[in-house]
Amino acid sequence: MSQKTKIGLFADNHEGGYEKCIARAMQDHSVDLIVGLGDIIDVDNGPGDMIRNLSPFCRTKIPTYVIPGNHESYHTWHEACKFLGLKYPNFHDATRNKIHAFNNLNMLFIPGTERCIEGEFRISNACKSGLHKNGMNHYVTNLKQLKKEILKHKLNLERTILFCHDPPEQTYKNGTDSLINIEDISTYHYSDLIKIKDDEKELYEQEILMGQGSTLVRHFAFSLNLQVILSGHIHRTSAITLDGIDILENQKSKSLLLNPGPANEGNYAIVHVESNGTIQLVNYFRGKVN
Ligand SMILES: [Zn+2]
Ligand SMILES: [Zn+2]
Repeated sequence: MSQKTKIGLFADNHEGGYEKCIARAMQDHSVDLIVGLGDIIDVDNGPGDMIRNLSPFCRTKIPTYVIPGNHESYHTWHEACKFLGLKYPNFHDATRNKIHAFNNLNMLFIPGTERCIEGEFRISNACKSGLHKNGMNHYVTNLKQLKKEILKHKLNLERTILFCHDPPEQTYKNGTDSLINIEDISTYHYSDLIKIKDDEKELYEQEILMGQGSTLVRHFAFSLNLQVILSGHIHRTSAITLDGIDILENQKSKSLLLNPGPANEGNYAIVHVESNGTIQLVNYFRGKVN
């Protein structure tokens, strides 16, 4: 018998405002679990904003897993998680537990970001996991080490879903890490280019087309042949197959790279995973509350 898991996804809440509506929508769709993909807050002013933005999801009593992005600091994150964890038994800080089992699926979480130098939740291959080598309270996810652990425990990767803030770097123009849709360029970004000198124009063009994702996440996910990668960070919605082909809502696929879009504009997504020992099919739909 194949088992279906419905996952409610949100990312990039920043200043917040839509959380109650998004949480209610996920409840209405009877999701089995909720996952927050980072940038839960905007400016780091202590744990208050994070508690405010996550509480509506916790109150649904649906298992809720959350990772930080590049806006959360170590202290704020752990203070808020401590508070939420004590108050809501369904709340899970997924930075500390990188491998979870849910229904017949494994869930991997990669908190933080690769590119942000100041970021206190960092993705790396060089530092040992745990405290940052400079002795400060940074949290470094060492992907090489994580991969070793996964292989050592013979984790079944055919039923494993990866949740991360940084999307894997891709070369597709419609990728989950490209800043804008290819069709947007002519209508909006190109008009700005008129003001720019020719040599700079080319650089600018490259930048907006180039993938903004993490090369480390890319090597990690693609070398393990993970088929379902759900991420945030790029404030636009997109959904493609591993081959870079757009997937429409409700279309079934073997693989899925998806960004639910920014929650600070009311976006969320629901992903359905059918598995029978291995992930067979995924599909999704998007919601937008107002
Ligand atoms: Zn963001
Ligand atoms: Zn981000």
